[in-house]
Amino acid sequence: MVVKSLVYHPNPILRQTSTEVDVYHRDFQTLVEDLIDTMLSEDSMGLAAPQIGELKRVFVLNKKRIAGDKSKSYQPEDILCIVNPEIEYQHCLINSSEGCLSFPGRREIVKRFSQIKLNALNQESKPLSFTADGMLSILIQHEIDHLNGILFIDLI
Ligand SMILES: [Zn+2]
Repeated sequence: MVVKSLVYHPNPILRQTSTEVDVYHRDFQTLVEDLIDTMLSEDSMGLAAPQIGELKRVFVLNKKRIAGDKSKSYQPEDILCIVNPEIEYQHCLINSSEGCLSFPGRREIVKRFSQIKLNALNQESKPLSFTADGMLSILIQHEIDHLNGILFIDLI
């Protein structure tokens, strides 16, 4: 468990497409723990693997921060780990005011879908399928874009 250095724009790593995660690889759990520790140390709502220089299709979200709770204590159930995500459907475009850890201090208004249905695996390699609305939906789209080398400034 290590807090990793962040990768900042315009580092070309952020423009690459990440590969599917092999959940049985021995490095997988270490990567997830590093992502969680780095996200929490940055007090961030989410963090994708390419942002710590790992081109793997995994990201973590802090559900407590997404819900607007700014307290610094976390339970394991506050953290959502999303592996090899696929969006099954998405609808209703809305404006979203976003920032990104890879762009310190910058905020932009971009278009996102207000609702998505996500299929993925969790940290225990179990299937995960749910519908997300509002901020959670937006965060998931932002993080999946990172896995495809797409950055929020591309959507302005
Ligand atoms: Zn970002």
